[in-house]
Amino acid sequence: MHYTADQTLAILIEGNRKFSSGTIAVQSFQDAQQIMQADQKPIAVILSCADSRVLPEQIFSQGIGDIFVIRVAGNIAKPSQIGSIEYAVKQYDIPLVVVLGHSDCGAIASTINACRDPNKVLPENLQQIVDDIKPTVIEVYENNKTAALDEISTLAIKENAVNIVSELCEDSSFLKQRVDSGDLKIVAAKFNMESAVVEFFD
Ligand SMILES: [Zn+2]
Repeated sequence: MHYTADQTLAILIEGNRKFSSGTIAVQSFQDAQQIMQADQKPIAVILSCADSRVLPEQIFSQGIGDIFVIRVAGNIAKPSQIGSIEYAVKQYDIPLVVVLGHSDCGAIASTINACRDPNKVLPENLQQIVDDIKPTVIEVYENNKTAALDEISTLAIKENAVNIVSELCEDSSFLKQRVDSGDLKIVAAKFNMESAVVEFFD
């Protein structure tokens, strides 16, 4: 069965409704084993933050083999993440990519701290992640000069995911082509940890 992007999105929304209303989906080992021994058929790609509290399979009530997940701090899209997305979309004809940020994101907090204290020294590779997110945080600051810090953080989490959706098309002619032909949708979303609800931004 091949789903459209909208059908896939509806499956994820329904899965998150189940999770956020208190159900953690459990797959039997027999079912998991059967899937592991067959070809994978993931229905969506999720580019998620690596935060230990953000488990895309659980928050969308999906099991082994259901979703192709790429996790990296700040859910950023550098060549290896974009290449992984291209692979999954091409190989499995996937119609939906979700860029999933979340509340209380440490990568966003580190970037805000780096903007407030430019002399702060970070490990060099973490610095690259922060540098990648920085233009978004600076833009949020400039557009919301009187906003409180937690408001800046909330806005930056959303804008980061939204900007990464655009970056995926700017940095991948393959993904852009799929989006332009209507074969692929790329959407931004945010997992709110207090409510366990995923909010999609369109
Ligand atoms: Zn995070």
